[in-house]
Amino acid sequence: MFRKDSDDEARFRAEVRAWVEANAPAALRGSSRRPNPSETRAWHRALYERGWSAPHWPREYGGMGATIYQQVILAEEIARVGAPALHPLGPHFLAPALMAYGTDAQKQRHLPPILTGDVVWAQGYSEPNAGSDLASLRTRADLVGDHFVVTGQKIWTSWAHECDWMFALVRTDPDAKPKQAGISFLLIDLESPGLTIRPIETIAGDDELAEVFLDNVRVPRENLVGPLHGGWKVANHVLGFERVTSANPYRCFMVLADIKRLARANGLLDDAGFRDRLVEIELDVIAHAAIFNHLIELAAAGKPLGADASIIMIVGTEALQRLCDLLVEAAGPAAAQRGPVATPDGPVEVATAFLYHRHATIYGGSNEIQRNVVAKRVLGMN
Ligand SMILES: Cc1cc2nc3c(=O)[nH]c(=O)nc-3n(C[C@H](O)[C@H](O)[C@H](O)COP(=O)(O)OP(=O)(O)OC[C@H]3O[C@@H](n4cnc5c(N)ncnc54)[C@H](O)[C@@H]3O)c2cc1C
Repeated sequence: MFRKDSDDEARFRAEVRAWVEANAPAALRGSSRRPNPSETRAWHRALYERGWSAPHWPREYGGMGATIYQQVILAEEIARVGAPALHPLGPHFLAPALMAYGTDAQKQRHLPPILTGDVVWAQGYSEPNAGSDLASLRTRADLVGDHFVVTGQKIWTSWAHECDWMFALVRTDPDAKPKQAGISFLLIDLESPGLTIRPIETIAGDDELAEVFLDNVRVPRENLVGPLHGGWKVANHVLGFERVTSANPYRCFMVLADIKRLARANGLLDDAGFRDRLVEIELDVIAHAAIFNHLIELAAAGKPLGADASIIMIVGTEALQRLCDLLVEAAGPAAAQRGPVATPDGPVEVATAFLYHRHATIYGGSNEIQRNVVAKRVLGMN
């Protein structure tokens, strides 16, 4: 919208569009929720075989070494047919951290199966009393000989019950001050003895979330990423990626298109009040896309994003939730039904989308925390 493809990019877009249209599985298209990792395994494999499962990875690790604009083109063309992005935790969050902080052995062992989609990763950061204040985490990992012995509990671990491995933050020095200085970053096999996973059903009716209980789980020392007690830096590397990728405006454009389909079907486009609200939110989504585009340009120029990552998360997620409010209004009484609402232009998910997107302002650091970041770093408030 804010930038014209170069000739090479236009050729790449045409190639991606034709391939995605022919290969994105019909069953995965148009869902308002993120499909679980087992549903996307075949899609991941197909993208891998085409060379597109990790466009952002350098070529030396089997990636495409794509420019940031090629990455955006791929994401946009996949979203255009309503197909899902790949489960991000392995390729987008863990892999860049491993490339920056992992040993050669860790890279050789863990990067190839992330690329192919054969091994799917969960993120074990949050605990019952450590979410926004993550540094308060209490899961203990005591180094005994060549193993850590890990005991504690993780919560809100997306799809842990569907994943093979989990990268986790654990407390290796309980006396460290500040408390961030006593945390390490461990890779934990979810099949390990002493580990129990219990799925949690969400208000949207899916079981994306889970609790992970660790009871004297033995983790080899070689699974430590970065220095002992130095996991906070590794974790923050991962969170920077999460904030920007969560802010891609494509979800907003998908909901906007659904609102228009419902509004057309229900005659609401003739209602001046509804049209006003629709135009207002559409302008906000376009402004969000402009900010996203600006951040992509900064990233392409190798500039640090700083508090911009927090700003885009606030703008994008709050626009998404206001869109969902308008989606419910456009559906009228049919919004109360659980299944999709029929329109002449095809079915539209309403209740599931509304409930599902409640999470957008929480995960990856809630919007209140993002506002604290802006208050401190941009406005200089302490
Ligand atoms: C869909 C979903 C998927 C998730 N997936 C994962 C995952 O895979 N792995 C993982 O580790 N975690 C995951 N999380 C957890 C997520 O990171 C936490 O929910 C989030 O960090 C908030 O922590 P909390 O839930 O403990 O809330 P709390 O930290 O208890 O916060 C409760 C409320 O208080 C507010 N608040 C807290 N502190 C402050 C403050 N200083 N100033 C102002 N307001 C404040 C918060 O904004 C929030 O509104 C997921 C969460 C969701 C919703």
